[in-house]
Amino acid sequence: MPRFNVTIKKTFRAIAVTAADLAPWRYTVAFPQPETHLLHVRLEIPHWETPVLNLHWPTWTPGSYLIREYARHLRDFEVTDGDLTGLLWQKTAKNVWRISVPEPMDICVTYRIFANELSVRTNHLDRTHAYFNGAAVFGYAPGHEKRPFVVKIAMPQPDWQVATPLPCIAPNTYRAQHYDELVDSPFEVGHHQRHDFTAGGKPHVWVVWGTGNLDLSQVAADTAKIVETTAQMFGGLPYDRYWFFLALSANGYGGLEHDHACSLLYKRFGFQGESYRRFLNLVAHEFFHVWNVRRIRPKAFERYDYDREDYTHALWFAEGATSYYDQLIPLRAGLYDRAFFLQLLGESISRLQTTPGRRHHSLWDASLEAWIKLYRPDAESVNVQVSYYLKGELVCLLLDLAMRATGRSLDEVWPWLWQTYGQTGVGYTDAELLAGIGAIAGFDLSDFWEKYLYGTAELDYNRYLRPFGLQVVAAETDDRPPYTGLVLHGGKTTVRQVLADSPARQAGLDPEDELVALDGFRVESSTWEEHLKRCGVGATVALTYFRDQRLHQTTLTLAEPRQERYVVLPVLEPLAAQQELLSAWLGT
Ligand SMILES: [Zn+2]
Repeated sequence: MPRFNVTIKKTFRAIAVTAADLAPWRYTVAFPQPETHLLHVRLEIPHWETPVLNLHWPTWTPGSYLIREYARHLRDFEVTDGDLTGLLWQKTAKNVWRISVPEPMDICVTYRIFANELSVRTNHLDRTHAYFNGAAVFGYAPGHEKRPFVVKIAMPQPDWQVATPLPCIAPNTYRAQHYDELVDSPFEVGHHQRHDFTAGGKPHVWVVWGTGNLDLSQVAADTAKIVETTAQMFGGLPYDRYWFFLALSANGYGGLEHDHACSLLYKRFGFQGESYRRFLNLVAHEFFHVWNVRRIRPKAFERYDYDREDYTHALWFAEGATSYYDQLIPLRAGLYDRAFFLQLLGESISRLQTTPGRRHHSLWDASLEAWIKLYRPDAESVNVQVSYYLKGELVCLLLDLAMRATGRSLDEVWPWLWQTYGQTGVGYTDAELLAGIGAIAGFDLSDFWEKYLYGTAELDYNRYLRPFGLQVVAAETDDRPPYTGLVLHGGKTTVRQVLADSPARQAGLDPEDELVALDGFRVESSTWEEHLKRCGVGATVALTYFRDQRLHQTTLTLAEPRQERYVVLPVLEPLAAQQELLSAWLGT
């Protein structure tokens, strides 16, 4: 622990921070040995005037509702005064460093952050680049979040480049107006492709790290259509410049929204055909968050609490409506056709209808419990949880259809939300949101909320789709194996999930059981379904399996195949009124 400087030269001023004190805190980030994955960080705090400085590191980052304990990656913490004399410090909580400051002084804090997790919300450093997020790198002192911050990047090689939405104030030096902006501004430093383009009259930038099969000019052209189509609905673009960060990896997938940027992770060879169209959904999703959840925020997010969970019931709307529009916007932008849009809807419906947890978990609860459920799935989750992305998307679909059937639409909700909450910076309450949607819809939605938001009633897709000449139909079912309720790990015979109320659960099978034999014959992942088909529905089979190194046997009765797939199809002879509504919704 550093030495304690005992010389008292001046007395402390017993006043709180004033505007005149708002000199920036200066961070320097260096990468002297990228192969160690260690970010070297220095924080210079000018003229600290109280006897204690509590430095906190965020436990989570907005947009990703899981306590990630970023401070666990922090090491080699040291503090000195302006004369490089060590100051006494101690940790007082998992994410809090308490520094004793014997007199008013400049303070310098140095530490390192282990950065070897490639995701949109963490840090990654290797010999080709550094990608990092404010919440996972930079600390703050409560009460001082409103002061400006400066970040200087110490460039390891002359050919590395810096990309960040923060304004550049000197070579490799950037300024955030306050801590929220610092947290909200990712950095991509190193070798990357950059492509500048204009959309909606504003400059936009793609920054891509990694190798893959994407055609960046095509991506930029398609992105411009997404930007302009979304801006049309909200009545303009609420920023001066916007950045799309993309990292490519073998099987990566993810996105994180910011005020002036989004970070995306996608599979490197996923930029053709259907996989590319799904990439455009991801782009449209994160871009929709420019408004929904970044600027139009639930009350709980008016001011983030980086120390602990910020609970809200509104994720069904913040993420669900965004997921509905991430499919609608590319269609409206002409990036794919109606058939693909309906295919996506069918896939979403199939996913929800094969999740037993939909009968137990409401959207309302799923939103609040994101912190312990959606982001922390386990083998039982499928039986007891619902995703507020997935069900939120489908409830927003039904809501939009209900409104459109009476001449209104969910599109009309956005200008109201933007003007009332987005432009004022005031968070909406749940009651305000629901009442506002109801007022625009022009009919009583209380039964709808009761069944689909607060409750767990099955979504009545066809009631809402019928006025549009569409219907949900069970897809062909001929060649499916009998139902066991077992879901195996891909390419293995180890059980991944045991679905609720299934033959496998009755038979006492558990996740991680390793299936060995069926009726005495060796089980292999490639022939498992063939075995089930050969035995047939109604057969009782003997299953031999290992659990915790011991061999067990049980019997299991094979059930009727379960409906796994639904599709959305036009009705046979749509009426003119149905065709009219459909065209108004999905274009001609
Ligand atoms: Zn989202």
